[in-house]
Amino acid sequence: MREWEKYIRKVEPYVPGEQPQAEKVIKLNTNENPYPPAPGVEKLLHEMDADVFRKYPDPACGCLVKALADRYGVSEKEVFTGVGSDDVLATAFLTFFNSGKPLLFPDVSYSFYKVWAGLFGIPYETQVLDEEFRIRPEDYKKENGGIIFPNPNAPTGLFLELNAVEDIVSANQDSVVIVDEAYIDFGGKSALSLTKKYDNLLVVQTFSKSRSMAGMRIGFAIGDQKLIQAMNNVKYSYNSYTMNTPSLLLGTEALKDEAYFQTAVSKIMETREWSKECFRKLGFTFPDSMANFLFVSHPACPAETLFEALKERHIYVRYFREERLADHLRVTVGTRKEMEELFRFLEIYLKENGYQN
Ligand code: PMP
Repeated sequence: MREWEKYIRKVEPYVPGEQPQAEKVIKLNTNENPYPPAPGVEKLLHEMDADVFRKYPDPACGCLVKALADRYGVSEKEVFTGVGSDDVLATAFLTFFNSGKPLLFPDVSYSFYKVWAGLFGIPYETQVLDEEFRIRPEDYKKENGGIIFPNPNAPTGLFLELNAVEDIVSANQDSVVIVDEAYIDFGGKSALSLTKKYDNLLVVQTFSKSRSMAGMRIGFAIGDQKLIQAMNNVKYSYNSYTMNTPSLLLGTEALKDEAYFQTAVSKIMETREWSKECFRKLGFTFPDSMANFLFVSHPACPAETLFEALKERHIYVRYFREERLADHLRVTVGTRKEMEELFRFLEIYLKENGYQN
């Protein structure tokens, strides 16, 4: 080993879902939105002039921060934006979890939390979800250096009622509690209203799912201005020009079309509920998801076998070879047509292979 190799930071990186480059695939593996963003977004994209390339972007992300503050009824000082919610979350980890006490999060949740904790040297303790994959608020009433959980949780899709979220936040006023609401727009109730009452609560959301803009990388956090100021201080100590100008402009534009947003989200929720019925008829079980994905398990057919069979048919879903997850598949809710194709395949496959009578 060369001397310098000894000093390379040892990290175990996050493994993102596959982005297959072939054209004809049904892509249900990374929780993208199957519908395009609001029509105004595409129109603006075509009208952009070359200055968006030539000049640095606004480091304060002013137009987007203002649009978000207006949309969510908060002041601009209570909004932080970043390159996808991954960037926002990483900044929050770096900013808030420095007490040396363990960060608490569920054993089954977004697998990036462990990775950031590892990268930044933050000790953590995972809290075991109950048999039905539910978060138990009482597990979060112990000494800690911070708390984070997704709501709805990923990859289960289960939503934790707002009174339980408040129970956790109010019991931990000496720590920062982050609620990662990447999937909140698909029927859950946001904890944003609680940020007015609790200065230790940070709510993080994204344009990647409900606003169909995963490729633009837009995420944001809302919380007390002291939290936001602290995150900005860290951001400006690291990289001041985070979001590129097209993302800033297109994200701002997306927020103007509330009607389109509501319609697209309703379509996904409708398809999700219909998909639950179809999975049920085929014998699958799953937690009652409030997100844009379902976490399904078949009593007879091993998840990994099914994952491979689907992939062979160019249907991509997500499989996690991890404890408690390995007999499940996470299936993003696509268009009705995509889901119909999925169920047509599943029906035949399960019968032909003796997994179903
Ligand atoms: N939080 C959760 C729970 C997620 O599933 C994801 C998507 N991988 C993210 C955050 C990050 O999404 P993005 O960076 O695209 O906003």
